[in-house]
Amino acid sequence: MTEGRADFERARDEFVTTFRRATTTPGSVRLGKRTTNLFRPRRRTRSRRLPTAGLDMVLDVDTEHKVARVGGMTTYDTFVDGTLPLGLMPAVVPELRSITVGGAVTGVGIESTSWMHGLVHETATRVEILTGTGDVVIADRSGPHADLFFGFPNSYGTLGYALSVDVAVQPISPFVRLTHARCTSPQELFATIADVCETGVFDETPVDFVDGSIFGQDEMYLTLGTFVDAAADSTPSDYTWMGIYHHAVRERDSDLLTARGYLWRWDTDWFWCSGNLGFERTWVRALAGRELLRSTTYRRLLALEHRWQLTARKRRLTGENQREPVIQDVEIPIERAGDFMRFFADEVGIVPVWVCPVRASEDAGRFPLYAMRNGALYVNFGFWSSVELLPGMSEHHHNRRIEAVVEDLGGRKSLYSTAFYDRAEFDRIYDIGAYEKLKTTYDPDGRLPDLYAKTVMRA
Ligand SMILES: Cc1cc2nc3c(=O)[nH]c(=O)nc-3n(C[C@H](O)[C@H](O)[C@H](O)COP(=O)(O)OP(=O)(O)OC[C@H]3O[C@@H](n4cnc5c(N)ncnc54)[C@H](O)[C@@H]3O)c2cc1C
Repeated sequence: MTEGRADFERARDEFVTTFRRATTTPGSVRLGKRTTNLFRPRRRTRSRRLPTAGLDMVLDVDTEHKVARVGGMTTYDTFVDGTLPLGLMPAVVPELRSITVGGAVTGVGIESTSWMHGLVHETATRVEILTGTGDVVIADRSGPHADLFFGFPNSYGTLGYALSVDVAVQPISPFVRLTHARCTSPQELFATIADVCETGVFDETPVDFVDGSIFGQDEMYLTLGTFVDAAADSTPSDYTWMGIYHHAVRERDSDLLTARGYLWRWDTDWFWCSGNLGFERTWVRALAGRELLRSTTYRRLLALEHRWQLTARKRRLTGENQREPVIQDVEIPIERAGDFMRFFADEVGIVPVWVCPVRASEDAGRFPLYAMRNGALYVNFGFWSSVELLPGMSEHHHNRRIEAVVEDLGGRKSLYSTAFYDRAEFDRIYDIGAYEKLKTTYDPDGRLPDLYAKTVMRA
């Protein structure tokens, strides 16, 4: 056994033992992680932190069968570092370096290879789970715990914790050549997405990666990426310090990045959200350096802002209207994506918006808490900002409208951020009948929180 594996097994035993000792009431434990990408502020509670050190490592990469086993708390940063030297990458790599494999499987993860491979949980083949009963089980598609394998995505740690996960990996080339194809209407954008995802080709070039950025109703870019072996004709661009990737999307027709540079292209500026914190200023970037220019820095700053409510206090003092945080990712069937865009432009108006196609797998309908139509193509819309609340609007006006429209259009909303569904709506949308059966089997004493309590009530 390698030293790393022995460390992992020690860490796993400590995690399991701590859980078994500490779980007396719901909410009495929580993960002791240093980072999070959740955007639903928790109520402060005195819960015991489960030790996660040692569960962040790549345990094995099977280069022949293209599958890697990693600790459940492994960040994608560590995962990518462990596979790139072998000429491989995880099949879907969420854009933010600190997202962990367990977090992305129990939450919902997406990226520009999702048009081929689906959501992150669809790339997992086996999950080792510490359930609410304190037992450790192996869940996969066909074994005795297949119900838990399919029920785990979108359960957000309310059925158990992923201790290790087997994830599909895919071969890479050293560089990615990008085309930023400008579209001047949503119709053009979604028709091009549908075509590329059907044929795998854009402008006679095979495509590996597809995502897009909407800056206005007549200014949107579909970014197509293709692996290439050599960069003889140009030097790869660097968007980890002074260069700003989302500016390049608007300014350049094409680009070249290293494979690593491509995978973390959005992390440096948290897509475009670093600008709100002043990090697009040249002197701030120069002083901050590469180590500070990353999503974890901005997440910490926003946590402080949330704690002290400085902006809301200033607005109250100056008599300005308050703003409602609207930070969400939703999936809409491609045939209704234009309808969503129309509603969004008319009523919400946030720009930029990130779009990313996702092809649901042939068994996507079997995941009860995040069921999608088997084989169907969806478009993910990601928007992370705030919208002014006009007099007469309720506190959650825009988020509630988005929830209603997503449901009308046959879409799905992920639960990493705020949610305001009433209990009946929530139970219908996320198949809580199936969830309750799983709860009865895997957490009968309610040692872990309930999904509605955790994601809507923020318990
Ligand atoms: C601004 C913003 C943009 C985002 N954009 C994207 C995106 O583009 N692509 C994308 O894929 N995702 C995106 N996300 C969402 C992100 O993938 C999810 O929030 C994911 O769950 C975060 O994983 P984490 O490892 O940081 O988990 P955490 O934030 O630490 O935890 C998330 C939840 O999962 C539970 N959890 C964590 N680890 C485990 C485990 N091992 N076993 C069981 N439960 C666990 C926690 O209890 C918690 O409820 C975005 C989030 C934000 C805030």
